[in-house]
Order: sequence, then C-alpha cells, then structure tokens
Amino acid sequence: MNEIIKMTATELAEKIRTKQLKSVEITQAFINRAKEVDPKIKAYMNINEEYALVQAKISDQKISEGKDLGALEGVPVAIKDNILIKDLKMTASSKILENYIAPYDATVIEKLKTAGAVFVGKTNLDEFAMGSSTENSAFFTTRNPWNLEHIPGGSSGGSASAVSAMTAPLALGTDTGGSIRQPASCCGIVGVKPTYGRVSRFGAVAFASSLDQIGPMSKTVEDSALLLNVLAGYDKKDSTSINKPVPNYLVNINKDLKGIKIGLPKEYFIDGLDSDVKKAIDNAIEVYKNLGCEMIEISLPHTDYAVAVYYIICCSEASANLARYDGVRYGFRAECDNLLDEYRKSRGQGFGAEVKRRIMLGTYALSAGYYDAYYGKAQKVRTLIKQDFEKAYEKVDIILTPSAPTPAFKIGEKSSDPLQMYLSDIFTISCNLAGVGGISVPCGFSKGGIPIGLQLLSKYFDEETMFNVAYKYQQATDYHKQFPRI
Ligand code: GLN
Repeated sequence: MNEIIKMTATELAEKIRTKQLKSVEITQAFINRAKEVDPKIKAYMNINEEYALVQAKISDQKISEGKDLGALEGVPVAIKDNILIKDLKMTASSKILENYIAPYDATVIEKLKTAGAVFVGKTNLDEFAMGSSTENSAFFTTRNPWNLEHIPGGSSGGSASAVSAMTAPLALGTDTGGSIRQPASCCGIVGVKPTYGRVSRFGAVAFASSLDQIGPMSKTVEDSALLLNVLAGYDKKDSTSINKPVPNYLVNINKDLKGIKIGLPKEYFIDGLDSDVKKAIDNAIEVYKNLGCEMIEISLPHTDYAVAVYYIICCSEASANLARYDGVRYGFRAECDNLLDEYRKSRGQGFGAEVKRRIMLGTYALSAGYYDAYYGKAQKVRTLIKQDFEKAYEKVDIILTPSAPTPAFKIGEKSSDPLQMYLSDIFTISCNLAGVGGISVPCGFSKGGIPIGLQLLSKYFDEETMFNVAYKYQQATDYHKQFPRI
C-alpha cells in the first residue's frame, strides 16, 4: 500500500511545504486508491481527477515559486455533495437535483480554496441529508469500509467512509442531528459538529436551518482542528453566523488535562445500551481518569423528549426549505402541459420516500390548528433542553457520552422502520437542539470488528477545550491508527 495514503493531513501539509512531496503526487495517490477501492465502497458521487490535478499543480507551482502558502496547501479534501463547488455537479443525492451545476462556491469552499485545498471528489449522502445510513441516497448505498455488509452511518456516510478507506485524508460533512458524528463513529474516524453559528452555511443545501452546521471529518483530532481553523469565522452571507474571534485550535490542543471536569449524563448511560458500546465507553472513562480528569455525574433531564422534538422541528423546517424545488428553478423537471401538474409530478418523481415523509410531517406540524400543539410545543421543549446544557456546564467543562447507541448495523436492517432509524440519533441530536459543539472520536471496536465512537460535547464556542480533551485521548490510545483491511 502506498505510504502516502496513510499519512495525516498535518503530515501531508508539512511534506508539501518542505518540498519532500508534491501535491500532484499526493493527489494522484489518493485518486488511485479511490479508483481501486471505491467501486466496492461507493463513497463518491464523483471523483474529480482532472479538476483536482489542476488544483494540485497550482499548489506545486506556488511552492516552487516561493509564494505564500495556505494552511492546507496541496492537501486533498473530499466534499459532501450537498455543498456547492462552482461549475461542478451538486446533487444532494436527490433525483430532483440530478443535473444541477453549482453556479457559485459555498463560503467554506472559498475558504478551502484560499487555504490551498484540493477537491478530490463529491461524496454520497442520504437524500438532502435526511437519514442515518446513507441508504436514502437516490443513487446508491455507501458501504462501511470495516465491513461491506454494514452501513457507514449517515447522512455524511460518503465522507466518513472516504476518510476511513484512505481515499481522502480530510472531508467536509454537514450535521443537523448527528450526520457528522454518527458516521464518524460508525467508520472509526473523527467528526466535528461546531457550535451553531461558528461556520457559515452559505452554499450548503439547507435542510433544517436552525440546526444545520458544516464541519470537519478526519482520522485524527489534530487534523480536524487544522481544518476547522480554515472553516470557522463570521460570514455576512449567513445571517446565523456569529461574529466572534476564532482561536487557533492547534495552540492549546496538547494542554494537560489535570483538573478538567467531565460530565457523564445519567440519561445517556441507560440499561439497554449495547454491551460493546458500554465497554468501550467505560474504558474511555478510565483513560480520562488516568489523565487526571474528574468524572461528575450530571443530569440532562429533558433528554427523553429530544428525538420527538428534533423530528418535529427538522421536518417543519425541511418542509419550508424544500418548497423551492418546484421543477422550475433547479435540476429535474417532469414535462407536463400545465403548471400545477408540473409541480406535482416534478416533486412526486424527484423526491424519494424519506424526503416526502418529512415534507408531509413538517407541513402537518406547521398547519393552522396544529402549529401550537406541535411546532410551538417543540420549540418550548427545545428551550428546556438548551437550559439542561447551560445548567450542566455550570458544573463541568465538557460532557462525555457514547456517539451512537449501537455499532454500525447491517445494510437493510432498519430501512423499513423509520422509527428505529430515527433512534440511531438518540445521543447526537440534543447537541444540535441546544446548539453546542460536539466531536466523535474512535474509542474501540465491537466483537465483530466494527468501530465505536465516544462523543464529547463542548460549551458554546469552546471547541478549543473539546479538541484538547479529544486530542489527549488519541495520544493515549491507538484506535485512530488502525486501518480497515480493504
Ligand atoms: N439522522 C438524522 C436525520 O435523519 C440527522 C441527519 C443530519 O444530521 N443531517 O435527520
């Protein structure tokens, strides 16, 4: 196996900067790897070989001319296919956007271009990011590189499996209810949902606007910190982005953890928790004790309502956001002889079953007569969930939980039961409802050899502590140094 594909983004950036490796050589190595293994995994919607090599050559030229370099100069990144890259196809894994070509760059893409990143490909997702398994893609299902019969998680399953299978050292995902952290956990990589408002969503396909965030995915915590350094910051094009200084997330990443208070919410350590997950999390708690952290039992009393509240809010917002796909303005159009039929048929044929289910649920929850009982009530309970976190953070610096209730399940196992599928997000969605930051870090394997992840939840805009606590764990363990045999 080519040694390049095993390197971290931090190592690759350093090798490029010090002229030990060329970006073209690195980019080609990842693309060759993708050509070899991706037909089995199907992480990518498109591999942009020509496009990436042009970018890589530009980076190499900048280096040979001694020009100023970006933080990710020449380093390949895979991009979830619900984020716009000018002149490239963007489908959100939906038939309704099948032939849509992005007319502009998302803000995160502009930032990555300025930082010198190379876009190796667009990755598969659940249609419009609605799902937990990538089985809801209109085009194909992505597989877990650790076991091809299992799901890679979702909705950023393509990005997670690409990083896990070493076809890209870094990737972007989006996280509305866990879509970065849950697939990261399933595929044995790191995934970060930044605090709401930390990263601009301009140019990312809107799913549930009060919850959506873009974030990094990588093998190591250090690489995710490096990538968030590039992505974070205020953007006047996203009215929800917050104008707050962005720290350099690498500066304090190696700080001693002595005295750090870690909260363990009792509602997340329930009896029915999968035994492999429980064992892995218990081991992680021991690691933290040895690092000098103090473990404190806390309570997030409204946790039980999170799944119900999330599905009312996300479906309501999705029903409004997806109204724009009418067969006239974007992509797919069913030809009809009158406008109303054209709307009906374009949406009827263009959207998949899960997307339609959510549009219907959301439209119902928002309709006159039901608004107060559903959407209004859900917003109130959301406030209670947020207050649970605020109270907890008076006592602790960070909260530790499992990332997902079970290791990645088998393809097909839950696809006919939406409620079972929705329960995969039980540990990740409160973070989005409250708006705090979250990271998933590999912390073990099931008996069947499927990765398990631990989740750390940060105070608002305190990704710095989160990276520090996660980094120290990786320094003390080697789960991130194991590679799937594919
Ligand atoms: N799995 C969750 C859902 O289906 C979360 C999706 C996401 O974060 N985009 O809504």
